[in-house]
Formats: sequence, structure tokens, C-alpha cells
Amino acid sequence: MELKYILTFPPESTFKSLIYDLVKEYNIRLSILRAEIEIGKGGQLIMAIENEQDNIGEAIEFLKSNGVSVSSMSDKVFHDSSRCVHCGSCVSSCPSGALTIAAPDWKLNFNPDKCIVCKLCLKSCPMGLFSMELIN
Ligand code: SF4
Ligand code: SF4
Repeated sequence: MELKYILTFPPESTFKSLIYDLVKEYNIRLSILRAEIEIGKGGQLIMAIENEQDNIGEAIEFLKSNGVSVSSMSDKVFHDSSRCVHCGSCVSSCPSGALTIAAPDWKLNFNPDKCIVCKLCLKSCPMGLFSMELIN
């Protein structure tokens, strides 16, 4: 199973090679799903890690000790399917293919495993059926 984390970098931590250190020193295999970080200004990065790796706890502590705020994502993005009218508006805004509509029923299908938490669907649904929850 894959764990996803949101890392929030303060300005001062953007001058350090923290992700490189995570891979090299803690032997963490990770995928960067999204990153919006500017040197000297800070920003956010979303990464996915296979949870059977041994050093995840130490690696997270390493990030925190360098000023990075780390939030793990619980059930990622939630979709209230009971109120969905299957209009398809959210599908075109989803860059990862997590939201699809296809024959034969033409109903919205949400695959959370493909979600990269870009949050675009939170704005694109006219009925506000998407929400997100974070845990620390
Ligand atoms: S935009 Fe909202 S109502 Fe339309 S298909 Fe997506 S979740 Fe359903
Ligand atoms: S958060 Fe982004 S990737 Fe996830 S379902 Fe919404 S639009 Fe798709």
C-alpha cells in the first residue's frame, strides 16, 4: 500500500537538499506527485511512499527537524457520490485519470488510488461534492 504525504517547506528550508538526503541517507523510494516550491519563498510537495519501507518514521522526523511540516493524507479526497448528477464537469479538470465517466452507464467513477491531490475537482464540481481531510 502507498502512503501519501504533504510536505510544507518554510522559506529557509528551500535552500537545503532535503529530498536528496531523504533518498540517500534514509534509503527512501518515493514518487513526487506534485511540487510547487520556490527557492527562498517555500511551498508544498506531495509524495507517495510504499509503506513497507523501514525508515519512514525516521525520515519524517528528519524532515520535521529541518522545519518541514509533514501531514499524511488519510482517505485523500472524498466524494459524496449520493448527490452526484454525473454531469462530468470534474472529469475534464482531473489530470491523473482518477475521475472517469464511461459506457455503459456513463456514471462518474472515482479511483482514489490514482488521485494526486491536486484539488482541482474541489473547485470544478458545481455542487461542491469533493472534500479533503488531513491528519498529522
Ligand atoms: S462535477 Fe460534481 S456532480 Fe458533476 S460528475 Fe463531478 S462530482 Fe458529480
Ligand atoms: S484531487 Fe485532482 S487528481 Fe484527485 S480526483 Fe480531484 S482532480 Fe483528480
